[in-house]
Amino acid sequence: MRRKLFVTTALPYANAPFHIGHMMEYIQADIWVRFQRMQGHEVHFVCADDAHGAPIMIAAEKAGKTPQAFVAEIAAGRKPYLDGFHIGFDNWHSTDGPENHELAQDIYRALRKQGLIAERTIEQFFDPVKSMFLPDRYIKGECPKCGAKDQYGDSCEVCGAVYSPTELKNPYSALSGATPVLKSSAHHFFQLSSQRCIDFLQQWTATPGRLQPEVLNKIREWFAADDAGHVTLADWDISRDAPYFGIRIPDTEDKYFYVWLDAPVGYLASLKNYFGKIGKDVETFLADPAVEQVHFIGKDIAYFHTLFWPAMLHFSGRKTPDKVYVHGFITLGGDKMSKSRGTGLSPLKYLEVGLNAEWLRYYIAAKLNARVEDIDFNPEDFIARINSDLVGKYINIASRAAGFLAKRFGGKLSGDLGVEGRALLDGLRNASAGIRELYEEREFGKALREVMLLADRVNEYVDRHKPWELAKQQGMDAALHDVCSTCIEAFRLLTVYLKPVMPALAAQVEAFLKVEPLEWHDATRALGAHTIGPYQHLMQRVDPKQVDALFEAPAAATPTPGGEPLAAEIGIDDFAKVDLRLAKIVNAEHVEGSDKLLRLTLDVGEGRHRNVFSGIKSAYKPEDLIGKMTVMVANLAPRKMKFGVSEGMVLAASHADEKAHSGLYVLEPWPGAVPGLRVR
Ligand SMILES: [Zn+2]
Repeated sequence: MRRKLFVTTALPYANAPFHIGHMMEYIQADIWVRFQRMQGHEVHFVCADDAHGAPIMIAAEKAGKTPQAFVAEIAAGRKPYLDGFHIGFDNWHSTDGPENHELAQDIYRALRKQGLIAERTIEQFFDPVKSMFLPDRYIKGECPKCGAKDQYGDSCEVCGAVYSPTELKNPYSALSGATPVLKSSAHHFFQLSSQRCIDFLQQWTATPGRLQPEVLNKIREWFAADDAGHVTLADWDISRDAPYFGIRIPDTEDKYFYVWLDAPVGYLASLKNYFGKIGKDVETFLADPAVEQVHFIGKDIAYFHTLFWPAMLHFSGRKTPDKVYVHGFITLGGDKMSKSRGTGLSPLKYLEVGLNAEWLRYYIAAKLNARVEDIDFNPEDFIARINSDLVGKYINIASRAAGFLAKRFGGKLSGDLGVEGRALLDGLRNASAGIRELYEEREFGKALREVMLLADRVNEYVDRHKPWELAKQQGMDAALHDVCSTCIEAFRLLTVYLKPVMPALAAQVEAFLKVEPLEWHDATRALGAHTIGPYQHLMQRVDPKQVDALFEAPAAATPTPGGEPLAAEIGIDDFAKVDLRLAKIVNAEHVEGSDKLLRLTLDVGEGRHRNVFSGIKSAYKPEDLIGKMTVMVANLAPRKMKFGVSEGMVLAASHADEKAHSGLYVLEPWPGAVPGLRVR
């Protein structure tokens, strides 16, 4: 039966480029999707940027951009990662797209009609310094459940608890550091506490096969039972006060959906957007009971996807997810890499240093299972697995046989293969059902171990028959032909089993073997007396130096023409902290007692002048500078120097080694620029 699958990965928050945690999730889902496509199933695989919320609004404001422009820039940077790691999404959309506005409002209206939306005035934290209600993520404090310090106002990264910010102990504003004060505001709540919701969620979550056992255990903790045994859930605050970058709540002027309400709706919005492009009707598709809706997510967002999301869908009369597949984090030598607090393995740098994307796909797949477990990236283990498994066991089979076939038999395979060859291949074909089962269950590690055991059997066969010796013996042509043909056929079968993990390599193999794109059922067929193409090198070994380069500070890895390595990568937020302004040099003069400094009087359009000391005396005469425009760091803390206070810094380019190179170049904007403009 041809299955119909609607598959998503979690929507990445559009305030930063992807990190390795995103790539792990996409690789996991992409392998599963490619596997399903190889079965001939209909699969629609979509994702989108999660574009709304206070953090993006605040970051955009700091960067001097509209939130729309800010998220568009982030979105524009997604492609190199997705293409680079062969992630085959059918569509990439944004939660700020029109489909999402419409769907989120429709869902809200339906929930309201069901009597599941309540309006209540609540007291909320307000930052007295910033004069605004503080978004959850900008209130920090101690987790009310486990006491972990520095947790965000909405959920705890340590114990996974979800709570309201007012429950935090010792709260503080992350924007100003001030102790927030309580202020009242009318909020909209989704009434998860209603018996209808609880009954539905208890039944939905307990449906066999829908959730992993660990996830179900966690959910049972979230359903708190009181002394009388009554299970309760807290209502969910789904509104935020303006100013907010998000979707307006219908029939309000200044209330917006909390970003977590409209984010998962983005799955449906992206599907709708995609179906619009391919001329398919999304409502008809989702109304089909045969459609399976599958979400791949990280363990940190299980609460949203196993309680809020199914309840929103169910009570708005929509299809609920069939599977929510939760994975753990990826760590580097034990350190968590998948969260915003640090990236130890930069996906783009991985590609830049020349490491093969499919090595990472293979390595991650080899470590993944169906449980909610963290996986660790260990550089030595990575090198060993690629070199010994992938190259030593699998690629080696083709490279050992293909040369003889080309030289001695014109690339034509023997149709017979001999008793032993046929038995070996039967064994490989019979493994198809078991490996398929493992892929289906997301037991990728087990599937790849199974494939490597099959490769071991093929290599043992090669070692027993020694084609390199047969080639030297008189009258052994037929035996040599059978052995090499068996190897190539085995290689093709193994390629079928590895194709979900290594699609680009499989495409190379298909070209080499001169066969149509491999489908799963090709594992049960025989090539027969087929003619293959000339063997070209398919995959090299990992050079440990490349892996060293991946983890080296960028300094050593990428020397630049200026003789100076690039500084560590920063995000747009970091750059936005530096306020660069155009300044007019009103006056410039020598500083008595200094052979390096000039005293500059700068007009930055503030209605006053600034005094800046600049170490450019070796390159410029004061009279040449007066009247020119330049660029300065305008928000640098004033610095008290021997000669007075310097209120900023003028930008100049120079070589890293100023002693060896005397060049020093003050920056000057193009004609027409005026003092005070911001450089961005
Ligand atoms: Zn906690």
